[in-house]
Amino acid sequence: MRITHSVIVAALLLASGRLLAANVLLSNVVVYDGTGGEPYRGDVRIEGARITAVAPHLEPKAGETVLDQRGLALAPGFIDMHSHGDRDFTEDRAAAAASRQGITTILVGQDGGSMYPLRDFYAKIEGNPSAINLASMVGHATLREQVMGKDLYRPSRPEELARMKDLLARELSAGAYGLSTGLEYEEAHFATTDEVVELSKVAAQAGGFYISHVRDEAARTFDSYDEVMRIGREAKLPVQITHIKMGSTSVWHQAAKRMPGYFEQARKEGIDLKADVYPYTFWHSTIRVLVPDRDFYNPQKVENAMVENGGAQNILIVNYAPEPALGGKTLAEIAAHWQVTPVEAYMRIVRATADGDGPGEHDVNVLGTSMSEDDVRWFIAHPDIMFCTDGELDGAHPRGAGSYPRILGHYVRDEKVLSLESAIHKMTGLPAAQLGLKDRGRIAPGYVADLVVFDPATVIDRATVDKPLEPPLGVPGVMVSGEWVVQDGKPTAQRPGKVLRSAAFRP
Ligand SMILES: [Zn+2]
Repeated sequence: MRITHSVIVAALLLASGRLLAANVLLSNVVVYDGTGGEPYRGDVRIEGARITAVAPHLEPKAGETVLDQRGLALAPGFIDMHSHGDRDFTEDRAAAAASRQGITTILVGQDGGSMYPLRDFYAKIEGNPSAINLASMVGHATLREQVMGKDLYRPSRPEELARMKDLLARELSAGAYGLSTGLEYEEAHFATTDEVVELSKVAAQAGGFYISHVRDEAARTFDSYDEVMRIGREAKLPVQITHIKMGSTSVWHQAAKRMPGYFEQARKEGIDLKADVYPYTFWHSTIRVLVPDRDFYNPQKVENAMVENGGAQNILIVNYAPEPALGGKTLAEIAAHWQVTPVEAYMRIVRATADGDGPGEHDVNVLGTSMSEDDVRWFIAHPDIMFCTDGELDGAHPRGAGSYPRILGHYVRDEKVLSLESAIHKMTGLPAAQLGLKDRGRIAPGYVADLVVFDPATVIDRATVDKPLEPPLGVPGVMVSGEWVVQDGKPTAQRPGKVLRSAAFRP
């Protein structure tokens, strides 16, 4: 690493209490500019928060710190299109699980749940910023809860829908990017498609898009995608199937057969259809999601859910508050331990964590292995499917700390499922376009210096079910608005992250 006299300037700034974004020349990088085009060797100049020059060779200017990157790759900061980082965002300000992967922006407010009201959440963040940027959707279930209280297991009434539309408009005007739903979760499962269409029209008026954890990720996956298409068609806004999956044995191996038809139909009808995917064959949720219509004590439905998931041995109970010793065992093992059938074990767990005075829904966490590798690969390779972690900053699923390096190391380098420039585009330029971000997601003069330095030869995830927060390898540097938030692979003390507001509402 070449260091000039300007390091002294940086040191003085440090001594003054705050390290201002210094002027930096990143020399000798291989630029993956986020467009999906061919990479090229060059130098990149950063002045303050922005990129000011990109060229095969740039002469150092006076007062500039030259950092020789020795041929490492440089990409725009990654954008996580489905994050649960909002849960810990104001406490975990380093957001290391995200930043160490190269993620510089997370899109939160997912699965129908957003912080409420968003203005207060944003003010709290801006009073005490994070290392990374945050953008949010408005959650459909959040609107339902505000208007319908706990009486959620039914469609909304017309006057309730009218109030939800008003609330949605207000939340969007705080700068949110559209509407999210989690129609598989019981708080929203009883909403009609009409309810969602009417709300989506409000999001459309604000220039937003619709992102959905669809109504059924198992046997009725394609009915659920038809519903997404209908929402796009009738509300006239871009639609995104989030953490897309063929989530049950009855729809395995269907991605390559069925999905091209959806994208083709969308193109014909002028529906802007996108999706995002995380690179694992197992999910993480509550145990109740296995029976979305709340008929938890119907043995046939529970039995079907088990079969759809490939059997009780594929359902891992990560933690179980009523009997902590059972954490880490599969539902099959717990059933054997209790000497009951897996169906009875399921019902006993739901009963013991029914909301009320005792343990609740979130006192039991489940990892379900219910996807097929060929489908996951098909989604990862598809040009209109972006990436996400679906992770928390302190979560039980390794996706929260491993997704992006896993795509770059495992799926790009080792398995050659897609090219590196295409993967980078799907992590940067493509999501930036979906969010309407005009000055992020690309390496070019004028763009904000959200950047990732990584080594394509060594980058890899290390997070596992046993160690879900284990940091990845091969991501030495991450910059947000021209400041290093990760250096030598470790989080720094810098907190340059911003709340990103939708262009329609930017002041
Ligand atoms: Zn979800």
